[in-house]
Amino acid sequence: SPPSPRPSELQLHDVFIAVKTTQAFHHSRLELLLNTWVSRTREQTFIFTDSPDEVLQERLGSHLVVTNCSAEHSHPALSCKMAAEFDAFLASGLRWFCHVDDDNYLNPRALLKLLKTFPQTRDVYVGRPSLNRPIHASEPQPHNRTRLVQFWFATGGAGFCINRKLALKMAPWASGSHFMDTSALIRLPDDCTVGYIIECKLGGHLQSCPLFHSHLETLQLLEAAQLPEQVTLSYGVFEGKLNVIKLHGPFSPEEDPSRFHSLHCLLYPDTPWCPQLVA
Ligand code: UDP
Ligand code: MN
Repeated sequence: SPPSPRPSELQLHDVFIAVKTTQAFHHSRLELLLNTWVSRTREQTFIFTDSPDEVLQERLGSHLVVTNCSAEHSHPALSCKMAAEFDAFLASGLRWFCHVDDDNYLNPRALLKLLKTFPQTRDVYVGRPSLNRPIHASEPQPHNRTRLVQFWFATGGAGFCINRKLALKMAPWASGSHFMDTSALIRLPDDCTVGYIIECKLGGHLQSCPLFHSHLETLQLLEAAQLPEQVTLSYGVFEGKLNVIKLHGPFSPEEDPSRFHSLHCLLYPDTPWCPQLVA
């Protein structure tokens, strides 16, 4: 038989990027993302929310996905959004599914560099473990019994990616209404449920990657020189203090509390609103 064509080299347009948000953050968080990294990944990025928004709809068109999920911080509401993200990815036919929260900066160049390192033949689930040990859950069994299971999962707040090969195997537990059922069964949030399906149902493993970051870690510890290599970054309040990356400029902490505008200018200095270097 003729040799099968080699799969083409991975490009950004092979990646489906899902951003989870909620009505309350349409202005306060999404605006920042749309003006920074999403402006460089428009074609691949889909924003999953719970409430219609005319202004956002105007700006994003079909890239704004208004789910029927409720606008609350409950396990079912959050799992409902993850299910919508997963189904949209399956329907897209793209090669990689990446999830981020609306307080993440995703660096498309670093993401692509990372995803290119994985061979096509493998199942891949990559992200940052949120704990330094596996989480435990009890899995209901027939006749009122339960089985104690343990597994690793990637914290949703740092972002994670799954390749299509693995996502297709997850479908019996993750597609349509199955994701919410699975999440309810183990009574854990959406990101834990993803780990449970991959590790306990499919025998897969989380590949731990230090390039993903949530605001649950001390972001100040990253050196400025390392920032361009990171796949995701975040910002938030931790123990009453602003937890942000350490970057001196070009914008002041008052102008740019999240530091995402400054980071964006470091990565994309040709951006019109970045101070232009004079030759
Ligand atoms: N979120 C949501 N519904 C809510 C609250 C939060 O979809 O009712 C989303 C939010 O937009 C973000 C993620 O869940 O993408 C995590 O929320 P947040 O950063 O506020 O909380 P954290 O878990 O990081 O403390
Ligand atoms: Mn957060």
